[in-house]
Amino acid sequence: MNVLISLDGLSYTLFERYSKAFIENNFSICHKLVTTFPSVTFNAHATAITGSNHDKHFVIDNMLSHFRTIERISLYGDHELICNEELHKKTLFRSLAAHGLTSCCIHWPLTSGNPYIHHLVTESSSKKQLLNAEAIDQIDDLALHKTIKAIESGAYDFIASRFVGYDALSHKHGKDSLEATLYVERLLEYIGRIDALLKKNQRSYNLFIFSDHGQSDVETFFYPNEILEQSRWRENLLNDQIRFVGDGSGSLLFYSTLDNRQNREIMDYFGQFPEVNHFYELEGASSSEYQPIGILDLNATVCGEDIVPPEQPKYRTMKSLHGYHPSNVDEMNGFMVCTGYQINRSTTIEEARLENIAPTLAKLFQISHPCDGGIIHDMIREYD
Ligand SMILES: [Zn+2]
Repeated sequence: MNVLISLDGLSYTLFERYSKAFIENNFSICHKLVTTFPSVTFNAHATAITGSNHDKHFVIDNMLSHFRTIERISLYGDHELICNEELHKKTLFRSLAAHGLTSCCIHWPLTSGNPYIHHLVTESSSKKQLLNAEAIDQIDDLALHKTIKAIESGAYDFIASRFVGYDALSHKHGKDSLEATLYVERLLEYIGRIDALLKKNQRSYNLFIFSDHGQSDVETFFYPNEILEQSRWRENLLNDQIRFVGDGSGSLLFYSTLDNRQNREIMDYFGQFPEVNHFYELEGASSSEYQPIGILDLNATVCGEDIVPPEQPKYRTMKSLHGYHPSNVDEMNGFMVCTGYQINRSTTIEEARLENIAPTLAKLFQISHPCDGGIIHDMIREYD
């Protein structure tokens, strides 16, 4: 049995406080798990579970637009535009099912309707059960309860679960706030319970714990659509020909139906703002209808939002955020620790990537899983 646990939003720098205890318990550790760009939950979890980046799974952000209509589409609640067979068939769940292996999946984004998961609990279905859907500790308690039941049942070869509370508290109170850091200790206690249960059950198991991205502080706000509304591209914005799309985030997707020359001018224009780190142009034809023209990456501590006047900002009270390019804001990167019968004891590796998770798990299962990521050989014991 392999168990994969996601602790949403915990940066590798914060996890350093706790890593010693894991090493003393014979866990192997990957100091820095390089995240995706944009460094957001849906992109990162799709990459972890498929083993490929968004040029293959097309989950580029939590918000998207159709390249032609420029209509803003939120993926929350597992939107079927992206959460469909095209995505499902690229997941590790599918490769496992193809080899007769069973999966249980709890609160993992974009899994609704995935036919290769034998027992699926979506975050949206759990929220409907709770009286207060905003009570993130109740959502995580439910995730723990369901994970424990899944392990005890012995019915699954693979269990993937996600805990969301730290990320939510960090956004609300700050990444280093008392509320958020106390919650980390609660999550580590959950991990301890899961590990103890796996040991007690005496089944051969491997346990992987990772985070999808980190968090960093918010100081200022940036509204690129408001800037467009004040610019010579005002009519293009109002005619739905151009738009920045995103949450309160360190980066925003840029959609446009204008020609290359005009897009280049807009990108050069935004590149001059002190809030902007870099305007990444996405090159080449994509088979996705949701592929943006570019991604506007902001500098650390700047929070972007896609409001179009007269819309009002929604994220002014947010204390921490993510989304930045991980090579510019190092805190965006996550961590990984693992233990188990196929895992080396107390090995430390400096760096791996999110897309290494799925192929490494496939290697432990001794199955093939087509993807772009490579196996993390240094952490696992090789059997011939
Ligand atoms: Zn996340």
